[in-house]
Parts: sequence; C-alpha cells; structure tokens
Amino acid sequence: MPRSRLSRRAVLKTGLGVAGLIAAPALFGCTERRSWSQGDPFTLGVAAGDPSPDGFVLWTRLAPEPLSFDPATPGGMTDGRVQLGYEIAADPSLRYIVRRGTALAGPEDAYSVHVEISGLMPGRPYWYRFFSGDATSPVGRAMTLPAADSQPDRLRFAFVSCANYEHGYFAAYRHLAEEEPDLVLFLGDYIYEYIDPRPGMVRRHSDGLDCVDLWTYRNRYAQYRLDPDLQRLHAAAPMLMTWDDHEVQNDYAGEWSATFMPRELFLKRRAAAYRAFYEHMPVRPHRSHPDGPAMQLYDRFAFGDLAEISMIDGRQYRSREACYAPPNKGGGHLEGNESCPERLDPSRSMIGGAQEAWLFDGLARSSARWNILGQDVLMAQFRQRRPPDPASGFWTDGWDGYPASRGRLLQQIHERGVRNAVVLSGDIHAFFANDLKPDFDDPRSPVVATEFVGTSISSRGPNYDQFMASIPDNPHMRFFDSRVRGYSTVDLTPGQMTVRFQALSDVADPRATVSTLRTFVVEDGRAGAAAG
Ligand code: FE
Ligand code: CA
Repeated sequence: MPRSRLSRRAVLKTGLGVAGLIAAPALFGCTERRSWSQGDPFTLGVAAGDPSPDGFVLWTRLAPEPLSFDPATPGGMTDGRVQLGYEIAADPSLRYIVRRGTALAGPEDAYSVHVEISGLMPGRPYWYRFFSGDATSPVGRAMTLPAADSQPDRLRFAFVSCANYEHGYFAAYRHLAEEEPDLVLFLGDYIYEYIDPRPGMVRRHSDGLDCVDLWTYRNRYAQYRLDPDLQRLHAAAPMLMTWDDHEVQNDYAGEWSATFMPRELFLKRRAAAYRAFYEHMPVRPHRSHPDGPAMQLYDRFAFGDLAEISMIDGRQYRSREACYAPPNKGGGHLEGNESCPERLDPSRSMIGGAQEAWLFDGLARSSARWNILGQDVLMAQFRQRRPPDPASGFWTDGWDGYPASRGRLLQQIHERGVRNAVVLSGDIHAFFANDLKPDFDDPRSPVVATEFVGTSISSRGPNYDQFMASIPDNPHMRFFDSRVRGYSTVDLTPGQMTVRFQALSDVADPRATVSTLRTFVVEDGRAGAAAG
C-alpha cells in the first residue's frame, strides 16, 4: 500500500503523530465547532456506492431525531446549512488517512450528503467516516473498481431485494455483512410503502401510514435505516442500487399508478418517492439528482476485463400494464394470449427506448468476460396455472407483461454474441435458476443467458405448492423455492461463476442463522445454470 505510507509520511511531516490522525477532526478545523445537544446526528449510519476506478460516493444524513414528523425540520434539523467533515483511510482502523474533506448538508436534501470521491487508487478497499462538531459517525468500508485495463482474477459480490420491515427481521442483511462482499447489488423493494393489513406481522411500520408524500416516504426510509442489520450491511460493503415498485407504489408502471390515480397526481407522488430515495442512497448526484418525477438510476460498472455490471431501471420508463382497466387490473394480473392480445404488442417496452438503446449499445461494445444485468423483476417466461381455472396465463407486472421487449433483449444478446450474459433479479420473493432463450415456446431456441432470482430479505413469499405445480410447464426453469428468505452471493472468476442461495432459519427471529440452500455454477462459454 505505497499510497497510504506516502500519505502517512506526508502527515507526519506536518508534525502530527499517529495519535493526531485518529483524534477528533476539530483539530484540523474541517468542521464547525458544534455540540449536538439533541443527540447523535448519525443515527442513520453511513453508506458507500457507485464505485469508479478512482473513487466512489459516500453518503450520510444528519438526523438527530430521525423520525421527527415536522416537515419544516427533517430529522430534527432546524438550522440552515451544516458543514460535515469526512476522512478516508487505507486501513480499517483509520490510521493511514489518504483524504480529508468537507461537505455541506442542507434542508434541500433533508441534510443528506452524497460526496463524490475521486483520485484514489483502483481495485482496493478504503474505510471512511464522517464528523460534525463533537459527533463521529460509524466507520464504513468502500471499494474502488479495478483499473479499466486490469485483469482481475476474482470478484465476490451479492444481490438482495425485497425487505418488508413488517414481515420480519433483517438478519439476512447481517449475515451478508459478515461475509464482507466486495459489492452488493440492490435489486428493488428496499422499503415497502404500505401498511400490511394481514394478521401475523412481525413488527410494524411505526407511523402506521401509507407513504404518499415526501414526509411519509422520508420517514419510512429513516425507519428502515435505523435497523442495525441494514446499517451493518451498508457499512460493510458498497452498493449498486436499483429500485422496483414498492419504493413508490405496488405495481406502478412508468406514469401509471396501479390504483388509477390521475396521471398528474401520481407523478407528484412519484417525484416525492424518488426524492426520498435519493436522500437515502449512496448514488451519484451528477447522474441521479432528481428532477421532478425524473431520476436516472441506470448505469454500468466495469471490473477490468472480468465483468461489466449494468444496473437497469425496470419501473420508471415501462409501458402501462397490459390490459390496464378498473376496477382490478391496474397492477399485475394473469393474462392469456386470447384474453389480452395487448400484452404481445411489439411497441410495448419494459425499460423504455432510451435505456434499451443504451443497454443494447453497451452489450454490443462490451469486451468483458462476464456481462451481468442487475434488475428488478423475473425475466424468464413463467406460464402459470391457477386451478381450478384450466387456462394458463402470464403475470403482467414482470417481463411476461413485456414479452416483445424481453425478446428484443435476448435476441440482441444472441445475435451480438454477448459473452456470458447473466441476469440477476428480485421482486418475486423466491429463488429461481433459469435458462433464458429468445423464444421460450420454441424448444429449438438456444439458451443465450442465465437468470438467477434471489429470494426476499424478509418479504413473504408466494404460495409454494401453487407455483411448484406450474414449474413442469416451464422446462427452462431449473430451480424454484419460495419457502425461505435470504440472500444470494456470487463468486466470479474468469472461468466460472458460482452462485450460492443463502436461506435464513426463521425471519421472525432476529438471531436467525443462515445456511446454503443450493449452489449453481455457470461455466465460461456455456449459458445455463448447472448444479454446483
Ligand atoms: Fe418485493
Ligand atoms: Ca416488487
């Protein structure tokens, strides 16, 4: 670590010893003198995300009263702008500081900061913390991407989704944090916007309110971020973020709510939800600072020549749900080809024209050994039967609602010979391992990519027996289990990808243990999931 030694020498030259390096930052005059009489302002923890080869984004939000409900004083903050200090070190005990700086937090972003760091060394971990007056944040771990021209021999990451606070504890986040992955892909449903009326909730959304405006979304994020297991995960590993529907409203599609709200009203709600998401996530301000109801989240990340990860936004730009009609077809519903020909309309898109062009272009140009898509919903076709109804149907809220859009993507992967395409998905609260084909109904259609769907962190799964009864009608589905909650890890080398499905012993037990349910291997050059 030549850089950290250099840096230490440089600091020693200024007359400060190692003790000075770990002392309160007031010594360095980087934050105003201030005592937090209200209490700790770092109640929501810290986070890192969106790495580049020379930096990443560091996040925190000042909130001494995190669940304060007064719109004029978000998080209990009353006074104008507040200066924060931060330091980044080359070692976990923060002795070898490589960077110090300041950032301003203000009411416009609910006293959150998104510090874009650059100028660091590629392909290595860093540790960081924030300061404000006499308060110090927990220490977080971040990571820079490997250099563009490097040949990494390994990448260890994880993917997670669907953490309904009311349905259980976040022990899965804690177990994942203990694994210290290089990176975590978040694939949607970070919060749930509604209050679940069913019996048997493990814990409650404390305000008892459905989120509809900035204050209710903001407080929902604050409640989730107070969870110690979620805080641990953010501190342990940087994240790449995308969202699904529950960050706004169940089963919304682009500008259309699932509840037939007038379009303008729904876009106001979407704008509030996106803003609250931005305020709580370690995302790049230059890319993602929200502009009314618009916020760009999709992006790609290169890990030398080993992998390229494209994070996809499957909600903001999608066409309206197929056969959208009151009173009960505003969101996902099962439709057959006769009942809803609109579903097959080639003009429908899951990700919108601009994102589709960006994705196809990126995949065509990629020279990475592994091309990974992180996205929100099940991509493989899933022909479902719901006895006693003898007809089969397709769920309109997943890619099955946008089969032409899916066909274009998989055909593109096939025609361009995209190397080792792997799709990682969430939403459905179940593990799946699937072969992806341009035409699922044609047995001769080639397997061009592999899909792994991660189960939920805590959200209740779909009925196992009912889904299992349909699996034989879907021979491209190699594995399915909706009975457990958990997370998924990926160990990637040039020669193979190993995916572990990790299952929690009991989501209602905060001290639940975790075990490996199944392991799959994808070999370089051979699409499809084989048992590991
Ligand atoms: Fe979900
Ligand atoms: Ca969802």
